[in-house]
Amino acid sequence: MKKINKNRHVFIMDKNHPPALKVESGSIVTFETYDCFQNQITKEEQSMEALDWDHINPATGPLFIEEAEPGDVLKIEIQRIEVNPYGVIAAIPGAGLMGDQVQTSTVKVLPIKGDKVIFNENIHLPLEPMIGVIGVAPKGEGVPCGTPGAHGGNMDNKKIKEGTTLFLPVYQKGALLSMGDLHGAMGDGEVMVSGVEVGGEVSVKVQVLKGPSISNPILEDQEYYYTIASHKELLEAVKIAAADMQKLVMRELDLSFNEAGMLLSAAGNAEVCQVVDPLVTARFGFPKYLMKSFL
Ligand code: CA
Ligand code: ZN
Repeated sequence: MKKINKNRHVFIMDKNHPPALKVESGSIVTFETYDCFQNQITKEEQSMEALDWDHINPATGPLFIEEAEPGDVLKIEIQRIEVNPYGVIAAIPGAGLMGDQVQTSTVKVLPIKGDKVIFNENIHLPLEPMIGVIGVAPKGEGVPCGTPGAHGGNMDNKKIKEGTTLFLPVYQKGALLSMGDLHGAMGDGEVMVSGVEVGGEVSVKVQVLKGPSISNPILEDQEYYYTIASHKELLEAVKIAAADMQKLVMRELDLSFNEAGMLLSAAGNAEVCQVVDPLVTARFGFPKYLMKSFL
């Protein structure tokens, strides 16, 4: 089995990083990942201030896919996500929507037992593993793993989970795929800046698609296609995601601009991924019963 150990990681998605592994299109690869704090937090008594903040959001990789050239699409089937038996979640002064009211940082270490995350004795959440950071080397300068963009990155999109397929634009030879920042659970918005941060393993099948091109990430799950966009302003991110979907709907269903917009309005969903990272991320979901493919 092809596997990248978590020791092979990056903090910036960048074309200049040497590959941790090279594979052919069609390969299945397992990425072992740290949590977003690089597993620095193991006890609730630990102070957040003592963390090494230069080691946040490590992404395991990069994986070089032989056939990938700029302009291609990288198809990533997320076949399996396994998480460690505990996660951590934090409140940090200045971070997240309520950060201005957080006086001192606190951290909780949450046991994960079976299909539950144990928040406390009385509050158990369903375990819903997802990938916070997944992306390729961007066009031009490198982008820190904590920032999302057209290349993917820190999208914190809770829909990116086992059984879904992510499509990313390829900007560099080999694509250079990296991932990390798994969450055992996260709500849309990730309002307090962290989800249930957890290390683990992700197995993906990577495939290079020649011919089609996309300008932003697209996700496919059982029922929906989602266009994904990041921007400084949430409304702008929503507009980009909706515009991307409208173009797909026009092309695939052979509809006019106005009609496609009507259909988006009647059957599509503008949704928030996260509102706490350097750029915020939105997705626009459109049901597959109306649109059978997008490529
Ligand atoms: Ca994240
Ligand atoms: Zn995270």
